[in-house]
Amino acid sequence: MATKPRRIVILGPPAGGKGTHAKRLAADLGVPHIAIGDMLRREVAEGTSLGRTAKGRMDAGELVPDEVVEEMVLSRLGRPDAARGWILDGFPRDREQAEALERQGVGSRVELALALEVSLHEIVERIGGRRMCRSGHVYHVVTNPPRTPGVCDVDGQPLFQREDDSDEVVRHRFEVFERDTKPLLEFYDGRGVLATVDGSGTPEEAYARLRATL
Ligand code: ADP
Repeated sequence: MATKPRRIVILGPPAGGKGTHAKRLAADLGVPHIAIGDMLRREVAEGTSLGRTAKGRMDAGELVPDEVVEEMVLSRLGRPDAARGWILDGFPRDREQAEALERQGVGSRVELALALEVSLHEIVERIGGRRMCRSGHVYHVVTNPPRTPGVCDVDGQPLFQREDDSDEVVRHRFEVFERDTKPLLEFYDGRGVLATVDGSGTPEEAYARLRATL
């Protein structure tokens, strides 16, 4: 690729490392990291009507209705900083959402779809130890612990487990990923922009493989 892609979507199973890598890549490329799950969790925490609609679905590991997320994402993409490019983390998650993005025109055309591959076994292990604070800083009790157990290094807020990180809900989220999101790999492959990345191992190992695809 002659120039680096600047409109990137990152696809992968729950706890596949989307958020971790998307944040880092966005900083490296100087484009905004747009994380739909974080935006939704903020709406839930603030108790907005959108948040109330989303909460039940999220806790059950189901997708929030397309119209709700589409409006949220498309309005975010209209902000001035997104003119430089973006990393979309958690959108699109199904065919309808991918088509909604394409309907926005050339400025929304995805230049690279990064698909992280991680086994269900590794996902379950990662999620069991995952903790986060209200602002979305993420830790793992074994592989990435905070300096003080249970407290966020960045802002001192208490750490907790996500409601949808229970074993049963995780398995369901994985099924939803296989059923609704995986078909997008073919969709982006057909457009010639797909790159699959082995997302297993430590964040550093996976990120090095991801960077090598750019
Ligand atoms: P993960 O990818 O690990 O499941 P996210 O934080 O990206 O975590 O998403 C958490 C939840 O938020 C999803 O299970 C779903 O309920 C909701 N969500 C996030 N993105 C979307 C989307 N594009 N469409 C519908 N629901 C979404």
